[in-house]
Amino acid sequence: MTSLAAIDPATGTTFAETPVTPVEEVVEVVRRARAAQPGWAARPVAERARVLRRFQGLLFERRQEVAELISRENGKPVAEALLTELAVTLDLARYYLRHGPRLLRPRRVRHGNVALWGRRGWVHWEPLGVIGIISPWNYPLMLPFGELLPALLSGNAVILKPSEFTIRTALLGAELLREAGVAPELCPVLVGGGEVGRALVEAGADKIFFTGSGATGRKVAVAAAERFIPVNLELGGSDPCLVLADADLERAVSGAIWARFSNGGQTCVAVKRLIVEQPVYDAFVERLLRQVAELRVGHGREPGTDVGPLIRESQVRELERQLAATVARGARVRAGGRRLPALGPTFFEPTVVTDLPLDAPLWREEVFGPVLPVVAARDVEDAIRIANDSRFGLSASIWTGDRARGERLARRIHAGAVLVNDATTHVGAAETPHGGEKESGLGRSHGEWGLYETCRVRFVGSDRLDLMRKPWWFGYHPASLADRDAFLRFAFAPRWWERLRAIPGALRLLLNRRPV
Ligand code: NAD
Repeated sequence: MTSLAAIDPATGTTFAETPVTPVEEVVEVVRRARAAQPGWAARPVAERARVLRRFQGLLFERRQEVAELISRENGKPVAEALLTELAVTLDLARYYLRHGPRLLRPRRVRHGNVALWGRRGWVHWEPLGVIGIISPWNYPLMLPFGELLPALLSGNAVILKPSEFTIRTALLGAELLREAGVAPELCPVLVGGGEVGRALVEAGADKIFFTGSGATGRKVAVAAAERFIPVNLELGGSDPCLVLADADLERAVSGAIWARFSNGGQTCVAVKRLIVEQPVYDAFVERLLRQVAELRVGHGREPGTDVGPLIRESQVRELERQLAATVARGARVRAGGRRLPALGPTFFEPTVVTDLPLDAPLWREEVFGPVLPVVAARDVEDAIRIANDSRFGLSASIWTGDRARGERLARRIHAGAVLVNDATTHVGAAETPHGGEKESGLGRSHGEWGLYETCRVRFVGSDRLDLMRKPWWFGYHPASLADRDAFLRFAFAPRWWERLRAIPGALRLLLNRRPV
C-alpha cells in the first residue's frame, strides 16, 4: 500500500489520497525528532507557549474549515464537530497555556525528617524526550491534540500516528502547528495503519500515548513493556448511566440520548448501559422512545442532522452481530434496529433495546454505534451492583433529584469519572482528568494529570549542613548505639519529654565529626 484513501463515510467515496509513511522510515523520523527536541526544550516555557498560542489562534480562525473536514472524514455533524472537537481543543489549549507554565515550575520539597533538615530539595519536571501518540478516528482532533499540546508545552518532540481513517484531519492540525512555528521534524505525522503504529512503538519513543480498542492497546502495552517504554492507555468503555427514581426524567432522557447517539454512538465515554430504577422504568422508556423517534439521521454536512453514519461497513456489521445475538437471547428491539441504505452505506437507525439478559453481547461488550440497551434495577443498591459488574471502568453517570446523594453514590462506582446529572462532558472540561479503571486503561490525560504524564520527575537535593555528621554514616561501633537510639527517640518518640531527653545523645551523634 503506497497511499491511503480518505473516505467520506456518508457516501463511501474517496475524496483524497495520502502517501503512506514506509515502515522502514519510522526509525529515521524518531531519530530526527530526537535531534530536534533538545533545542525546543531549551527554549523558555513562555516561548514555547507563545508558539502554541499562535496555533490556538490559527485553529480558532480556521475552525469552520477544520469542522467541515472532520465531518467529511468521520461523518459527525458539523455542529457537533464545532462543539465536541474545536471548542474542546481550543479549551484544552486555553487551559495549558494559562496554567502549564506555572505547573511546570520546579516544586520545592520540604523534608520533615530531622535527619534531613539541612537539605534543600526541588522536583523538576523534565520533558520525556520523544512522545508517540497513536490515536483513533472517533475524535480525530480533540483526542490527539489534547495529548500533543501539553507534550509540546513541556518540551517534548511528538510523533503523531493518527487513525488510518482520519489522516486528513491530523495533517491539517499539523499544518497549523507548522504555521505557528513548530519545526516539522519536532512534530511529524506518520501516515499508515497498524503496521506503522507498531513500528513507532518498536522505534523506541520515550513514551506512548495510545487511545483505541482494548485489543490493540494490549498489543501496544506488550511491545512497549519489552522495551521498558511507559504507556498511557485510553481504551474502550461500557459506561453505565443510572437513572434514580427521583430524577428529572425529561433531563435524564435528553442527557442520555445525547450521550449515547452523538458521534453516531461511537464515543468511548458514551452511555452504553442504561440502568433505570424500577418505579420510573416504564415512564422513562416511554419518554426515551418518544425522543429517539425525533432524532434526525443524515449526512453530517446537512444542517439539522443529529446522527451521522458509522465510520465503516465493518463497524455496522459488528453492531448487527451484537444486536442479533442479543435479540436471540430474548431482547426486544423497541426502536430502530436496521440499516438505512437509502442514506448511504453505513447509516444505522437509532436503536433502543429492552428486556435483555445481562450476559448478552449488547451489555457485556463495548457497543460502538447507535444502539442503547436499557434495563430495570430493583433499587439503588441493585443499580450500583449492575453498574460495577463490568470489565470496563471508563466513566459513568447518575441522574437524581438529590445531588448530594448522587455525589455520595458516585464514589461507589468503579470508573475514572462519574458525573451527576450530566454524562460524558467531563472529557470536554480541560481541567478534569480523563482515563479509566479496569480494562478501560492506564494513566490520565487532560488537566494537570495529563501534563505531568508527559514529564519525567527529576529530584535535585543539596545539603547545606556541611558540619554535621550523617547519623547513618559508618562507624557502627557498639558505643554509638545509644546515641543512634537517642536520635530515633528525638525524631519519633510519641511524648515530647522523651524527645527532649534524647537531645544530648542525638546532638552527640550529629555533631561528632569523627567516627563514633
Ligand atoms: P484501534 O485500536 O483499532 O486503533 C487505534 C489506533 O491504533 C489506530 O491509529 C491504529 O492504526 C493503531 N494500531 C492498530 N494496530 C496497532 C498496533 N499493533 N500497534 C500500534 N498501533 C496500532 O481503535 P479504533 O477503532 O481506531 O478506535 C475505537 C476504540 O477506541 C474504541 O474501543 C473506543 O472506546 C476507544 N477509544 C477510547 C478512548 C478513551 O479515551 N478511553 C477515546 C476514543 C476511543
